[in-house]
Amino acid sequence: MSNQSIKFLKVINPANANIVDEIPMDTASSLASKFTLLESGQAQWRQKSVAERLAIIQRFGEIVKTNLEVLAEILTTETGKPLQQSRNEIRGAQNRIVHLTAYAEKWLATETFDTPSMIETIKYEPLGVIANISAWNFPYNVGYNVFLYALVAGNAVMYKPSEYASLTGLKMAAYLYEAGLPESVFQTAIGDGEVGQALLDMDFNGYFFTGSHKTGQHIAQSLASKLIPVQLELGGKDPLYVMDDIQDIRQAAINAAEGAFYNAGQSCCAVERIYVSSSIYDEFLSHFVEEVKSYKVGNPMSADTFIGPLTRSAQIEVLEAQVKDALDKGGQLECGGKKLPGLGHYFAPTVLSAVNHSMSVMMEESFGPIIGIQAVDSDEEAIGYMKDTVYGLTAAVFSQDKERAIDVLESMNTGTVYWNCCDRVSPNLPWSGRKNSGLGSTLSSQGIRAFVQPKAYQLRLP
Ligand code: NAD
Repeated sequence: MSNQSIKFLKVINPANANIVDEIPMDTASSLASKFTLLESGQAQWRQKSVAERLAIIQRFGEIVKTNLEVLAEILTTETGKPLQQSRNEIRGAQNRIVHLTAYAEKWLATETFDTPSMIETIKYEPLGVIANISAWNFPYNVGYNVFLYALVAGNAVMYKPSEYASLTGLKMAAYLYEAGLPESVFQTAIGDGEVGQALLDMDFNGYFFTGSHKTGQHIAQSLASKLIPVQLELGGKDPLYVMDDIQDIRQAAINAAEGAFYNAGQSCCAVERIYVSSSIYDEFLSHFVEEVKSYKVGNPMSADTFIGPLTRSAQIEVLEAQVKDALDKGGQLECGGKKLPGLGHYFAPTVLSAVNHSMSVMMEESFGPIIGIQAVDSDEEAIGYMKDTVYGLTAAVFSQDKERAIDVLESMNTGTVYWNCCDRVSPNLPWSGRKNSGLGSTLSSQGIRAFVQPKAYQLRLP
């Protein structure tokens, strides 16, 4: 990356392809200066108590609440997320601050074990200056999971928002400073993959990445020789199995559709494939298609829009290819299936039935408003299909019978399992992917400890 020439990042509104803003990208030399600043800031920041650091983050939460409407409009303008869903995300992400308030001191506290001749102590030291390379689809949730937790643990952070959520990232930085966070403790790296790549060549004390499997794998390979903590929160192909014992088939279909189509399916834990017991398949499918056809697709600024444009225009080709592949192999198109006319990146909400595992729509991450629904004859058959994936983020079962559902969920090799819910994250619980879905955990006690390193003190009494 050149040190000299400053390039500009075009922020494009995916609803109409208008250029909203052009912001200067970082260069190798600006990143180097920011890193030096963060190193000096971290030395001071780590001396503060957890309570002092937390107080600043709490003030940041209050400022975000006060500016909710401004922030929601920015998020909708640069990502196309329907305005109400932007508000939901910003409000919902506050639960990370509630979680830190309740548990940070407990999980960062020094532990001491007294033995007859020794004092044995564990102190949790911050990692130092960490890089947070982030995604655009839920920038508040996935950003907070890393940078708020890292800051409270005493680290300085270089936050690289996605190139599709950079205005949001810059606002977050401004509000953190307004809350009292020194600029020497938090800096943004603005730009595309090239700027992300430049961060990999620098000497951060840990890298925390949220994004695609392809980029995550590249990051892990590039950093392997540094022998430093690397966490990866990657994609998924999350299955939902609807059992034949559910009482309200229509409601199950409505809930499943929301899990698949919320944020136009651009959620790492969106339902990406559905298996339904054969005996209720036709009824479930008909309710599901009716629900999806009722979704209002359109301007994300309108109050009643449920499906907005896709954030990245390139994903439209991926979805078109999945539809073609499914139809070529005998799948049935129930609704949607194509890009909508106009300049915006809209793809019609799409339901495919009569699908199977020879089709890419059942095997590869779609990350869009599309779903395949397949009939199964037994729990064993459903388990076989649910496990037939290179991913391991979440798996869900809808059923009246808890024992039967848990039997299925215990056999899943995923970081999260759901019974009668889906597409959900709780700060009380570890958020982690297995296999191609990632490495390490955010949230919960694990996600607090992810940003510190233990030091063992072995002190012999004289
Ligand atoms: P992406 O991999 O394209 O980009 C993620 C970030 O990596 C961006 O900031 C990008 O600029 C940066 N980047 C790109 N190339 C890089 C390089 N060579 N070196 C360093 N950084 C580089 O992913 P995306 O499109 O932003 O996000 C979508 C993906 O993220 C989906 O697969 C989704 O499932 C996943 N995701 C996972 C979680 C989770 O918690 N598991 C949460 C949200 C999104």
